[in-house]
This record gives sequence, structure tokens and C-alpha cells, in this order.
Amino acid sequence: MSQGLITAAYIIAAILFIASLNGLSSQESAKRGNYFGIIGMIIAVIATIASSQVSGLGYITIAMAVGAGIGVRLALKVEMTSMPELIAILHSFVGLAATFIGFNSYLDHAVLAPAAQTIHDVEVFLGIFIGAVTFTGSIVAYCKLSGKINSAALSLPGKNWINIAAVTAAALLLVAFVSGDLGLTALIIMTVIALAFGWHLVASIGGADMPVVVSMLNSYSGWAAAATGFMLANDLLIITGALVGSSGAILSYIMCKAMNRSFVSVILGGFGTETFAQGDQEYGEHHETTAQEVAASLNAAKNIIIVPGYGMAVAQAQYPVAEITKRLRAKGKNVRFGIHPVAGRLPGHMNVLLAESKVPYDIVLEMDEINEDFPETDVVLVIGANDTVNPAANEPGTPISGMPVLSVWEAEKVVVFKRSMGAGYAGVQNPLFFKDNSEMLLGDAKASVDAILASL
Ligand code: NDP
Repeated sequence: MSQGLITAAYIIAAILFIASLNGLSSQESAKRGNYFGIIGMIIAVIATIASSQVSGLGYITIAMAVGAGIGVRLALKVEMTSMPELIAILHSFVGLAATFIGFNSYLDHAVLAPAAQTIHDVEVFLGIFIGAVTFTGSIVAYCKLSGKINSAALSLPGKNWINIAAVTAAALLLVAFVSGDLGLTALIIMTVIALAFGWHLVASIGGADMPVVVSMLNSYSGWAAAATGFMLANDLLIITGALVGSSGAILSYIMCKAMNRSFVSVILGGFGTETFAQGDQEYGEHHETTAQEVAASLNAAKNIIIVPGYGMAVAQAQYPVAEITKRLRAKGKNVRFGIHPVAGRLPGHMNVLLAESKVPYDIVLEMDEINEDFPETDVVLVIGANDTVNPAANEPGTPISGMPVLSVWEAEKVVVFKRSMGAGYAGVQNPLFFKDNSEMLLGDAKASVDAILASL
């Protein structure tokens, strides 16, 4: 394929990627956005393979067939609740690829003029550094999200100093590497430091702050891809990497604002680092209720708000929830949904589930749009949410302190659907369960919602 055609294909692919991101910004256009991304990627892969940069087509075809086979199998098998950990592990692959390409690019490249050689060395060094940090950071995120390791923050003594020492050592090694003093040795030592640094950075971050970590690693994987683009002199990879890197950074910023965390301290891995004493405070008695009683309350109510959380996803309760919504609306009741920005285990998790079960978009409201309406609400159904409705966030001294939450307790009556009195992802006990206007409907959320549906 001629160079002109390849450049044209790259430009079309880049435009399709931008259109894809644009489409993904709202639910109505998300499907279209995905198609743009798929077409863009097909064009990009064909153009890259057809370019003279590529040799060994046989190996590439075999690798793509094996990779695509594994990818399709995983994507078909994965549950919605396991999506965040799948994303985390995919980020780790980007990091690993950037690291390998960095070493390859150092060991096997054309002889360059001195200035170009320096630029190339810096690209290689940064590419491997970002790649290695992304690799181990994403593996720790995967392990925390899938419950393979404890999601509580690791708190090594002097943790911020450890991070500063790692970055300083990497900067000194960069100087040694570029000046040609240490060569491959500098690269290897830096890689080991970067792997440990990435691991420590994410391990130091506690449960409730994981959403920001996932979007931050998404951003890092983009920058790792962009660095790889520079090493391979591939413009499309630079553009794609920059798109992923900057959109991930913007998402991290939005999540930080939603969770009232400082963006700068997130980037430095220095947040969620305080150690909190586990309070064994007594909150008193909780009140339990039955599906029939909840159905009666719903029949008597005019204004109803449903607040879904991670438990709704686990129980796959979104379909009966959508059915209840339909029935209550048919009876003339004002039913709306309140969505916390970090409800569930990935950004937009609840919106996806509700859209999947065909709940109309216009009754699904963001936290800021609905938080002031709770005092005028008769019944709130909290379905498998916990941290996002925890009034302890308004008090100091817990890992979720300062995070804005949905003030469900201001409604006349709150019904909480969960299986036990246990804490949420952040491990903080929830005083909401013990309030006078709260009732617990204990059991699997889907079974509970089905029972209410039968009673309605
Ligand atoms: P939580 O994780 O705080 O609580 C979910 C609750 O659901 C649990 O207390 C659990 O209680 C209950 N539950 C689990 N399974 C079922 C079931 N089958 N039926 C009924 N209830 C069930 O959820 P939230 O959505 O309120 O908060 C999300 C948390 O996850 C936040 O801390 C957030 O920071 C974090 N997070 C969010 C990410 C994101 O991007 N959105 C990413 C990573 C972490 P029980 O066991 O008693 O049933």
C-alpha cells in the first residue's frame, strides 16, 4: 500500500476514534460510538499490516488469531459485575506491551544521528517506565477488584518517601542512560524500580478510592501506548494513546471531584493513605421488614426514588426493578432513579444495567440532580447500595469521609435491600441501617424485588 493511502487510512481511523469517544459520552449514542471504534480499529490494523513497517505476516496472523480467540471467549463469558477487573487486566497488557516494545526498540534500531539518538533513548526510557508502572499497577487493581487480595490500603512506613525515592532514582537512571554510561543495565534497574513503584502506588490506595485508580490506570495505559507510538514512529498510535491518556485523565478528574478527592494527590498515589481506626461503635437496633409490607408502602406512596448499587448488579435485579418501575408508573406514581457517580464497580455501571433493562433515560438522574428531592420523597428503595448512601461519609475519620453521598435518610421511609448487616466495599459500617425511618429487607435483591412484584 502506498504511503499516501496509509496516511489517509490513519487519518480516517483517528477521526473514527474521536467520534467513538464522543458517542460514548451519552447512553443514547454509546452503541454508535462503539461501532465507530470497531471500524476505526479494523482500518488501523489493516493499514498498519499493509504498511512497509511490518514484516513476518505469518506470525502476526497467528498471534492475532490466538489473541482474538481468547478475547472473544472472555468477552462472551464475562459477567457485568466482573467488567472492572477485566478492564484492569486489559490495561496491564498495554503496559506489558509498551515495556517489551521499549526493550525491543533499544536492542534493535537503525543507527541514528546523535540528537535523534538522544530523543529515541528518552522515548524508550519513558515508554518502559510508564509501561512497567501500568503493568504492575493494573495487576494489583485486578486483584483488588476481583477480591483476590484485600482491598484495604497498604500502609508502609514512609510510603510517600518510597514513591519520591522511586521517581528520583528513575530520573537519575534516565540521565545515566541518555549519556550512554550504563546502557542496558540502567534500563533493567529502572524497570525493576518501575514495577515495584506501580505495585506500591496502587496497593497504597484503599477500597473506596479504587474507581479513581481504575480510570487513572486507563489514562496511564494511553500514555504508555503514545510512548510506544513515538518509539515505532507510528502517528496513529501516538494519536490513539493521547486520546486514551487524556480522556482517562479527564475521567479521573471528574471522579475525583465526585468523590471530593484532590486530583494532584491521586496522581502522586498519596491519597487514601491515612490509617483509620476501625470503630466498634454501637448504632442500636435495626428494623426488618417483609416484601408484602414494602409493596403496601409503595402502593400508598406518591413519590418514590430507587437508589441502585453494586448489589443490584450482583443479584441481576435490574429486570424486576424495571418491571416494578413500569407498574408503579402505570399507577400514576412518580418513580425516579438516583445514581451515585461511583455506584457499582465501574463508571456508569448502574446506567448500563438500567439501560439494558429498558428503564427510560429521563427518569435516571445523577446524584446532583436528585439529592435535594429526598425530603419530599415518600419511599426510597436502596437496592444493594451501601457506601454511596452511607451518612458516615459526612463525619470525619473514615476512609469515605468527605465523599458526597445520596441523602436517602431524609426521605420519609427508606428500605434497604441487602443480604446481611455487613459493610460495603470501603469496609465502613453504615449508620443508615439503624435509623428510625430505615427498614432492612434482608435477602438476595432479585428474590426480594420479585417477591414485591408478586405482591404489588
Ligand atoms: P457497596 O459495594 O458499598 O455495597 C454493595 C452492597 O450490596 C453490599 O453491602 C452487599 O451487602 C450488597 N449485596 C451484594 N450482593 C447482593 C445481593 N445478591 N443481593 C442484595 N444485596 C447484595 O456498593 P455501592 O454501589 O454503594 O458503592 C460502590 C463502592 O465501590 C464504593 O465504595 C466505590 O468507591 C467502590 N468502587 C466503585 C467503582 C466504580 O467505578 N464505580 C470501582 C471500584 C470500586 P451484603 O453482602 O450484606 O448483601
